[in-house]
Amino acid sequence: MVFVRGTFRVVFNVHSLNTEGAVGNYNPLVRVFVTGRNKDTWEVVETYAISGNMLKHWHARIISEIAKAKNLKSLPLCEDCIRGVFYRTRLRVESESDMISKCVLDDLHGFLCTETQVRRESLIKLSFAVPVEERIFNICSVTHNRVVVDESGKISKEGMMPFKNEYASGIYAFAIAMDLKYVGIPLANPNKNVINNSDRKDRAKIALEALGSLLQGEIGAKQARAFPIAKPLQALVIISKYPIPAPTHAYYKDYIEDTMETYRGLITNGLLGKDTIEIHTYGIKNIDISKELKNIIKQHNSIGEMIGDLSKKIDEWLE
Ligand SMILES: [Zn+2]
Repeated sequence: MVFVRGTFRVVFNVHSLNTEGAVGNYNPLVRVFVTGRNKDTWEVVETYAISGNMLKHWHARIISEIAKAKNLKSLPLCEDCIRGVFYRTRLRVESESDMISKCVLDDLHGFLCTETQVRRESLIKLSFAVPVEERIFNICSVTHNRVVVDESGKISKEGMMPFKNEYASGIYAFAIAMDLKYVGIPLANPNKNVINNSDRKDRAKIALEALGSLLQGEIGAKQARAFPIAKPLQALVIISKYPIPAPTHAYYKDYIEDTMETYRGLITNGLLGKDTIEIHTYGIKNIDISKELKNIIKQHNSIGEMIGDLSKKIDEWLE
């Protein structure tokens, strides 16, 4: 059994990862409200976000690219997922098991066949990415121009098409939950493995690998001309043999202390065994490692090292 819960802080500079659709010649970013602390009071403020839908789509897209590159029998892709069409499958699906054996993406990210009503819930769940509670964030709009010339090479007056795009820069937080225990297992009939354990491990590990790419900024819209200037700052990933509560979301400024307190409590009270859980971190300094958490916390120097170590745990723990 393996459950993974992670929360992250990433810098995205000058990006336009999630727009709302143009209003005239203006392309605004998606706006949402968040509740946060300003000194000692809580308040609701408007901010800008990258939707969970967008993050999930990109996680799926990275998995499909890795699966194509690895070209292993354990990582097949259906006709839709090869082309990047996810979720509402256009294939006629007779059972959840059928689809699991046919496609690693439908296995991990779920699907719905509207024709037969057969579905699978996603094993991978993502939050919105929002600027952190400390509000280290700002946006601006930039004017671009498309130019059309006539046969003589002259710019025609109607050929000038100025438009404005909003771009944001800031520290963003998001969270992911991955119920890797169910990789290759139909949720509608959990006693039945559809694929063997070695293939299940390959699939679980590709989900972790794709998370690594997400953290390096491989997400969202307008990448061709505004590839995000990204840098992962902090990662906190809990891997466990048993279902566990998620860490406090990295949006909150005190999420590390909060999270450590929660797991310390679970271990002290005997609700979690010390050999059933590991807490992997990147970029988090000055963690107060008490004796209960001493051998559980694994601090890493890079995202790559962290993902590599988590993959080793999948080999050990997924059964
Ligand atoms: Zn598929």
